[in-house]
Amino acid sequence: MTTYLNWIELSETAFKTNIKSLGKIAGKSKLSICVKANAYGHGLKEIVSLAVKEDSIEYLTVHSITEAVQCRESGWSKSILLFGPFLEEEIPLIFEHNLEPTIFELDSLFQLGKLAKKQTTSVKTHLKLETGTNRQGITENQLAEFAEAYKSNEFLKSPYGASMHFANVEDTVNHEFADQQLESFLQLCAKLKELKIAPTALHTASSAAMILFEKTHFDMVRPGISVYGSWPSKETKLSYELGGGKNNLFQPVLTWKSRITQIKDVLANSFIGYGCSFKTSTDSKIAIVPVGYADGYSRTLSNTAYVLIGGKRAPVRGRVCMNLIMVEITNIETAKIGQTVTLLGRDKDEDISAEQLASWSGTINYEFFARLSPNIPKIIV
Ligand SMILES: *Cc1c(COP(=O)(O)O)cnc(C)c1O
Repeated sequence: MTTYLNWIELSETAFKTNIKSLGKIAGKSKLSICVKANAYGHGLKEIVSLAVKEDSIEYLTVHSITEAVQCRESGWSKSILLFGPFLEEEIPLIFEHNLEPTIFELDSLFQLGKLAKKQTTSVKTHLKLETGTNRQGITENQLAEFAEAYKSNEFLKSPYGASMHFANVEDTVNHEFADQQLESFLQLCAKLKELKIAPTALHTASSAAMILFEKTHFDMVRPGISVYGSWPSKETKLSYELGGGKNNLFQPVLTWKSRITQIKDVLANSFIGYGCSFKTSTDSKIAIVPVGYADGYSRTLSNTAYVLIGGKRAPVRGRVCMNLIMVEITNIETAKIGQTVTLLGRDKDEDISAEQLASWSGTINYEFFARLSPNIPKIIV
């Protein structure tokens, strides 16, 4: 096995467990897994290599055309749903790679229709409906012009899918707003039917909605964070448990490791790192670990986070640098150069989760994952 100074291990078993749980929850709805943001920092290529082995996964969802093309290059031949916007220059790639774009803007629908006509090729699109998130969706009074654009082009005809996104499932245990959004969605779908562009596939649910409310499943579900073994939030987990859920549904896929590359004896009353933000109170042993904010180990973890060495917690001392951190090992006598340091994951009885790191750095697990540098080597274990 190749050795690295700073690397990510991906557990295939954990991935399979999560997909199995999600497949069970999804029931008859199609399972579409979100691999945007470099598969939530886990490595797009690696996650696609695992996804191709799972028959239950029918779709991948991505934000950009660039990501969609990378999915194809990594061997994904089934459907790909595109969430984000695209440039006119990118439209040929939609046809070349058989992608299903989300539509929320009239000009891009016309541009897409124009090329579809020219190539005499139909394209599957998903119309995004506005139900209260006020991000991408189109509103009720825009429906007629979209319907016109669809019906006037035989290669568009009508949207294959209609979708929406919930604004307030993750942040609360009160789901009234989600219920209102769902109601608006159904009303808008009824309007599409009246306008004679009824879609075949309805989808609304990301992880939280999917786990908590079966009524959001419709024809397809689009989980992201849960695929990687994390709950969307504490509130989602609590809501699940309050609703009687008892199963341990997910296992974290990612472990992040580095090594001790140097050990120093530092005298009492010495400063450590930039800004002299930490001062030793006793003679101390400090280990230097080659990971930093350039890798996604946020500078906000300075003087706050812990890493695991030999199953023990070692505190980060001083500021996180671009490529290095300093950690205190005064009480870890067994620590030695070359020894593995766990930044995220389990080491014997201790565990540092993405949620813990996110909370130490003042953000959420989603952002922590998304900021992991794509350059960190990945090993599937
Ligand atoms: C990212 C995203 C998802 C997945 O969300 P998770 O909370 O990670 O499950 C689903 N739908 C849309 C539109 C998204 O942008």
